[in-house]
Amino acid sequence: MLSYRHGFHAGNSADVLKHMVLIFCLDYLAQKEKPCLCIDTHAGAGSYPLPGVFSAKKREWEGGIGKLSGVDSLSGNGKAPGPDRQQIPAMIRRYLDITGLSNGAAPATAAALSYPGSPEIIRRLLRRQDRGCCFELHPEDFAALDALLGGDRRFTLRREDGFAGLKKLLPPLSRRGLILIDPPYEVKDDYTRLPRALSDALKRFPTGTYIIWHPLLHTDPRPGPVETASFQETLLGLYNGNRLGIEFYTAPKDSPPANSPRGMYGSGLVLFNPPWTLKPALEESLPFLGEILGIGKDGWKLQ
Ligand code: SAM
Repeated sequence: MLSYRHGFHAGNSADVLKHMVLIFCLDYLAQKEKPCLCIDTHAGAGSYPLPGVFSAKKREWEGGIGKLSGVDSLSGNGKAPGPDRQQIPAMIRRYLDITGLSNGAAPATAAALSYPGSPEIIRRLLRRQDRGCCFELHPEDFAALDALLGGDRRFTLRREDGFAGLKKLLPPLSRRGLILIDPPYEVKDDYTRLPRALSDALKRFPTGTYIIWHPLLHTDPRPGPVETASFQETLLGLYNGNRLGIEFYTAPKDSPPANSPRGMYGSGLVLFNPPWTLKPALEESLPFLGEILGIGKDGWKLQ
C-alpha cells in the first residue's frame, strides 16, 4: 500500500527533529577524510515546494520549519518572524542554514520556497569521495527524486524495497556509513519488518551510524500481543553499544490532538553509534525546540 505521500508532512516538527539530527551526524562523519556511504531506505521525493499542492492543504510545515525560521512571515501572511538568530542553539542554526530557510536567507517570494527532504540534505553535505544510495517505492516520488538527484554521479537511486535492499549494501567498502531508516508506518508490517531489517544490518555492519525515525502514538499500533516495552525500547534493545533514544512531544501524551487520526503526540528517533557530541547538543537544543514547536522546554526525553 503506497498511500503515504511525504509532501503532506514535509517540514513539520518531526522533519525538523529528524533532519537536524541527520545534519549533525553527517557533519560529524565529514570530520574524517575517509569516504562514507549514506543510505536512505525510505527517501521520499527529495524536495518539497512549501506553498505547493500537498503542503498547502494541511500546512504542517507552518508548525515546524515555518515557526522556527520565520519563512511564513516572508510569504506575506503576517505571522510573527522566527526567533532571533543569536538565541538559537548552534545545532538548530546549522539545520536552518542547510535547509536554506534561516531568517533573512529565505527567498523573497513565497513561490520559491521549498523544503529539502533527507536525500537533498544528504546531497548538500555529501563530499566528492562519498556515495549516497536512496530507496523509494512510490512511482511519482521516485520520479521526482530521479529528477532531483539522477544526474549526480555520487548517488544510486533504487525504486525498490528499502528494508530488503539495505542488507545488500552492507558493510560498505570504506567501513564508514550512515543509514537513515524512515518508513511511513502506514502499514503495521513496518513495525515488524523494521526490527528484522535492522538486526540484520547491525550484524553485517555493527559500527555504522544508524538513525531510525518513529511516531509516538497514543495507542500502540503494533500487531500481535500487547508489549510492555515501547517501540523505541524494543529498537534500542537490538544493540548493546553506543545508542541513544530521543522523544519529542508536540501534545500531552494523555490527550493527543483530536485531528490526529492515530493520536500522534510526538516523534522519536533511535540512534546507534551517534557522535558522542550529539547528546550534549540535544540537551542544549531540545528545550529551545520544545518552547517553539512542542509542549514546552521540558517536553522531550533522552534515554
Ligand atoms: N526520509 C524522507 C525525508 O526525511 O525527507 C521521508 C520519507 S517518507 C516518511 C517515507 C517514504 O517511504 C515514502 O515516500 C514512501 O513512498 C516510501 N516507502 C514506503 N515503503 C517503502 C519501502 N518498503 N521501501 C522504500 N520506500 C518505501
